[in-house]
Amino acid sequence: MNDEEKLSNPKKTIEIIQKYQFSFQKKFGQNFLIDSHVIHKMIDAAQITDQDFVLEIGPGIGTLTQYLAESAREVMAVEIDRALLPILSETLSSYSNVTVVNADILKLDIAAAARGKNNGQKIRVAANLPYYITTPVIMSLLEKHLPIRSITVMVQKEVAMRMQAGPGTRDYGALSLAVQYYAKPSIAANVPPNCFIPRPNVGSAVIHLECLDKPPVEVKDEQMLFRVIRASFNHRRKTMINALRESPDLNMTRQQAADALERTGLPENVRGEQLSLEQFARVADALADPRL
Ligand code: SAM
Repeated sequence: MNDEEKLSNPKKTIEIIQKYQFSFQKKFGQNFLIDSHVIHKMIDAAQITDQDFVLEIGPGIGTLTQYLAESAREVMAVEIDRALLPILSETLSSYSNVTVVNADILKLDIAAAARGKNNGQKIRVAANLPYYITTPVIMSLLEKHLPIRSITVMVQKEVAMRMQAGPGTRDYGALSLAVQYYAKPSIAANVPPNCFIPRPNVGSAVIHLECLDKPPVEVKDEQMLFRVIRASFNHRRKTMINALRESPDLNMTRQQAADALERTGLPENVRGEQLSLEQFARVADALADPRL
């Protein structure tokens, strides 16, 4: 199928929406892509080959799915909105390598769904994500240690910048560190609102997360690392000592927090937003083993 015949051609999208009298559901974050250039950029960033099994989250009417089906070996598209199922059977009818699953991605056992379909290889994830669940979806894909090679997603532009940000920048925070613990992020495209029907109120970006085989830092207690990170950014403007001391998750005295920073070689007045992932790991290690 050439681009003109696909749903990325706005005329085709409008045609199918009218044919099925589809009404957009705001609660499901439904903004459908209508720009073939953007989709080509997503497919290039995702590095999908004809060997890949791709999980698509939220196919909508099947716009990105049509391109995924032409580049991948197999696609599983998980869509929550039942009203889209008859539309997807029509728009994907010429692709025999696509399975549509009617489910909520946050409740689906992804490992079980993909098992047996990926030839023992890691899978790739691609999506124009519904913005209301961006962070929970990405974090659950990363944290569950699923066999995923990469995640290429359209997200709100601010969220993409936060995922990619480094220490000392305005966008740096708990999300940057959590994502960078599991993956190497890179922004592949900025996407303005007029590339969607209906237009979202915010700018969007495509971000590619290349999942790491092992985290870039070693840490004794992963949970402690993430507790320290969360505590530090819950009160961004506070010094780390105060943020750690006040965290109900950590339950520690000012002296314990000060000792941990001292042993890590950090100044007393340091703030979390200045620390690299490596430095957070060292603080977490000092707190995990107070005798060191
Ligand atoms: N992929 C299509 C495109 O690019 O045009 C649609 C993208 S639209 C931003 C997000 C899609 O995700 C919608 O079709 C919506 O119904 C679906 N969705 C929303 N919440 C979902 C969930 N929890 N699980 C699976 N799909 C969901």
